[in-house]
Amino acid sequence: MNLILENGNIIDPSQNLNSKGNVVIEEGKIKGFPKKISESGFKGFKRIDCKDKIISPGLIDLHVHLREPGYEYKETIKTGCEAAAAGGFTTIVCMPNTNPVNDNASVTEFILYKARTEGIVNVLPIGAITIGEQGESLAHIGEMYEAGCVGISDDGMPVMHAGIMRNAMEYVKAFNIPVLIHAEDKGLSSDGVMNEGLVSTSLGLKGIPNASEEVMIARDINLCELTGTPLHVCHVSTVGSVRIIREAKSRGVNVTAEATPHHFHLTDDIVKEYNSFAKVNPPIRTAADVEAIREGLADGTIDVIATDHAPHSEDEKKVEFDKASFGISGLESALQLSLQLVERKIITLEDMISKLTHIPAKIIGSDKGTLKEGAVADIVVFDTKGESKVDRHKFYSRGKNTPFHGHKVKGKVNYTIVNGKIVYEDI
Ligand SMILES: [Zn+2]
Repeated sequence: MNLILENGNIIDPSQNLNSKGNVVIEEGKIKGFPKKISESGFKGFKRIDCKDKIISPGLIDLHVHLREPGYEYKETIKTGCEAAAAGGFTTIVCMPNTNPVNDNASVTEFILYKARTEGIVNVLPIGAITIGEQGESLAHIGEMYEAGCVGISDDGMPVMHAGIMRNAMEYVKAFNIPVLIHAEDKGLSSDGVMNEGLVSTSLGLKGIPNASEEVMIARDINLCELTGTPLHVCHVSTVGSVRIIREAKSRGVNVTAEATPHHFHLTDDIVKEYNSFAKVNPPIRTAADVEAIREGLADGTIDVIATDHAPHSEDEKKVEFDKASFGISGLESALQLSLQLVERKIITLEDMISKLTHIPAKIIGSDKGTLKEGAVADIVVFDTKGESKVDRHKFYSRGKNTPFHGHKVKGKVNYTIVNGKIVYEDI
């Protein structure tokens, strides 16, 4: 179907575009931005009124757990894609910690096949760094790259051996794809379940110190300098991490970073009621950490907003805090929570869109995240004003686990368009 998005506010930071106008989509591609559209023109096109709405490139999430193969009770590729579409995301990058782990081409091909046949948004897989994410021998990186992996990561199971990490970085350099790290020294985080600090002490829960993240970021920045391989730091959560990345960037190190809505909005006070929906790794930290992450987003130290969408079943979450699984279902509230940064004047709307579109695309070497003429029409249409509350029961995701349930937010996704086709609408 051919479409015309009429009278919207078109914001596409990839081409410094911010103006009122129309977007014509023909045969799945961006055809152009005609100033006027006559009543009789564009016969057979579906016309969509976008007055008072933003039209931007479809959102891209660098950090999603789709759970298939192996944990379909938590999420499938189909339901994860539906959740993404409802959140305004047209491309999601999925982590390899499935069962079996995505450490060889046959798993990569399975994910891509499922995404093609059952998914409604683009799915780009990340391959594991080591076999089984065991941190010992390198995964089949070359064949996973050939099959379509856009980066490598042992997310959640950090590679503890620096020599193996170095080898992975040397090896992956030939493919010009990034290494994405979940920075955590398991020796320091041990069996911690929340942020280490006053709140963990008062609750009698074992804490995870900021240092467990920071020492690994420092190590991998050193390895990034040694090897020249691009490094992407996932879900930055501490003031020290922001400082280390900022300093490395100032020296021209090839490092990028992401932050999640839960890390830039929440403090560990939320755990006081033993709220296991707020149990996540890295943990939700203190007000000083939140402040530092917001500063990092504002000054560009943190390049990207990502969700770390980690759906779990109710049984895995509604148990004692110590026993609950780590993770938050994030795809369906990320845009609204990011808009709060704009409303509080921490970043501009253009910056927010950049961090959710062309910047994440660039990190994985993708040409997505743009409305340039001729580009594939992956688009989100949203408003920034309508008030609502996050309602976990309305999630398309199988994971209803969010500490934001009941939070007041503004903004709503009206249309998500993938490849020129409307895959989600709510008007
Ligand atoms: Zn992680």
